[in-house]
Amino acid sequence: MCQIEEKITHVPLLDLKAQYRSIKHEIDPVVQEVIESQYFILGPKVKEFEDAAAKYCQTEYALGVSSGTDALLIALMALDIQPGDEVITTAYSFFATAGSIARLHAKPVFVDIDPVTFNIDPAKIEEKITDKTRAIIPVHLYGQMADMDPIMEIARKYNLYVIEDAAQAIGSEYKDGRRAGSVGHIGCFSFFPSKNLGGFGDGGLVTTNDQALFARLSYLRNHGAHPKYYHKMIGGNFRLDALQAAVLNVKLRYLDQWTAGRQRNADFYDKGIKERGLERWIAAPQRKEGYRHIFNQYILRVQKRDELLQFLREHNIGCEIYYPLTFNNQECFRYLGYKEGDFPVAEKAARETLAVPIYPELTEAQKNYVLDVILKFYEQA
Ligand SMILES: *Cc1c(COP(=O)(O)O)cnc(C)c1O
Repeated sequence: MCQIEEKITHVPLLDLKAQYRSIKHEIDPVVQEVIESQYFILGPKVKEFEDAAAKYCQTEYALGVSSGTDALLIALMALDIQPGDEVITTAYSFFATAGSIARLHAKPVFVDIDPVTFNIDPAKIEEKITDKTRAIIPVHLYGQMADMDPIMEIARKYNLYVIEDAAQAIGSEYKDGRRAGSVGHIGCFSFFPSKNLGGFGDGGLVTTNDQALFARLSYLRNHGAHPKYYHKMIGGNFRLDALQAAVLNVKLRYLDQWTAGRQRNADFYDKGIKERGLERWIAAPQRKEGYRHIFNQYILRVQKRDELLQFLREHNIGCEIYYPLTFNNQECFRYLGYKEGDFPVAEKAARETLAVPIYPELTEAQKNYVLDVILKFYEQA
């Protein structure tokens, strides 16, 4: 086949329309089916998705919920986290990780990150444990799992629960092949459209291997009712829509193929960075030996980050900072009494990192364009 090299002028951070076009013939009929059935709340589509998701995540149970944020909230509620309890988590993640702890009036306790993976540094957890500590929430940031063995060991030693925030990490694997969401007591996932498995709106999932916990999670999803109209506990409306489940059922079958596309793109960037001598100015993300990194994001650590960001955007390349502020520097967490500089590794990451497009449908020409524009920036700087 003769391929004509197209002239690239624009690379979005994500192109969901390209993905939809490729599976429209399968998605549209199942959405129509739900509409025809007028069965919108839970029901067979949700059950079908939960069974497939549990299998995919290598867990006994999976429960569809309304979002990744609600997955975290319902997980903490199921573990009966009370006001004043302390929950240890990373200083560097999407807001929901810490926000869900604070919403229950529990106290988020932050830990600095590993400079290579950007995940919570297990060596810094134990010093944060007090007699009020109840749980640890490691986040598998960008699609690579946190180092779970030492975290689980600490949890066993101090009798703590572990909730995995796997919102960015569905299908991601630890060094021994165990999947995200199957290692801790509860795993939390998000189907926000920009995640590797994205719905047509908000959605989420909790996973567990514990039957009693699964029962509590199921009741809490529907106002704590069991049976209907008899409330053992106070829950909420944390249900996953049947329409979302119908879409996710189709998309889950493509997930491994899409993940492979992201990994190929990451390989291409890694190689392209070396070939252009870009290592003088930027560092590619590191994959830990034996792990399966699913590249929800491809995160560069770069010099002159803010100038590079502006330059890329001027050249119509979508890029983003995940995340510009660590939790200790968020205004809403001032009451916790942290100060700037308390988490130097995370704060340095917040100043130096940048996400570039990694979605599976990227063409070779688009990837070369991204790398060439980065090179142009540093050569002229
Ligand atoms: C996306 C995300 C969430 C929240 O998921 P929503 O579905 O948007 O509520 C939580 N934690 C992390 C790490 C995330 O990336």
